[in-house]
Amino acid sequence: MPSFKTLFQSAAHLFYPHICTGCGSDLLKPNDLLCLHCIHDLPYTEFEKYSDNPIEKIFYGRLQIENAHAGFYFSKGQLMQTLVHDFKYKGNKEIGIYLSKMMAEKIVESNRFKNIDYLIPLPLYAEKEFKRGFNQAKIICDGMSEIMNVPVLTSNVTRIHFTETQTKKHRTERWDNVAESFKVEMPEILRNKHIALVDDVITTGATLEACAQKIAAIDGAKISIVTLTTATK
Ligand SMILES: [Zn+2]
Repeated sequence: MPSFKTLFQSAAHLFYPHICTGCGSDLLKPNDLLCLHCIHDLPYTEFEKYSDNPIEKIFYGRLQIENAHAGFYFSKGQLMQTLVHDFKYKGNKEIGIYLSKMMAEKIVESNRFKNIDYLIPLPLYAEKEFKRGFNQAKIICDGMSEIMNVPVLTSNVTRIHFTETQTKKHRTERWDNVAESFKVEMPEILRNKHIALVDDVITTGATLEACAQKIAAIDGAKISIVTLTTATK
């Protein structure tokens, strides 16, 4: 006999159709965000399974890292584009949490990301976070944290704009601005810790690298990088 809860959910379904975030199909379980078809089609990279994967290669010669990983391939016109768009631009945090948990389950299975002390979301500029209403990297950390049992540190690494007067004279290097925009407020907390720096997507890795360099400068700090998606094959 169906439970009261199931009956209630079925009744609610008549009035508020519950549809798949990926394809709009209504063939999905009450508490799921994706139908079985979309779950089956999730484009996992499986990079968590091996070192020297394409994400780790991005940082060769630039940054000393323990491990790096991106959970899903992002390609235009595909399922991930719809899901990430819903997450980042329509404020569908549930889908962000959901995908992050799916990614984190694979990370835990791989046994390659052990001994991480803190998850740190790549900070956004305050204005941008205010405008969006949230930092997507923080949401991803929250989802990962639930599965990995690793705490999220949100306010220790910050990002600020440098004004004209604060900026160095040689402004030909945009890198200076990016690198100097990150600040670790309390470095002692990160001393001898292994940090996973987290963002939604990786392209050139320049911003992640700039932030990671600041953390890596702390005594004994070790860095891993995890992003939800990548366009890199
Ligand atoms: Zn679907």
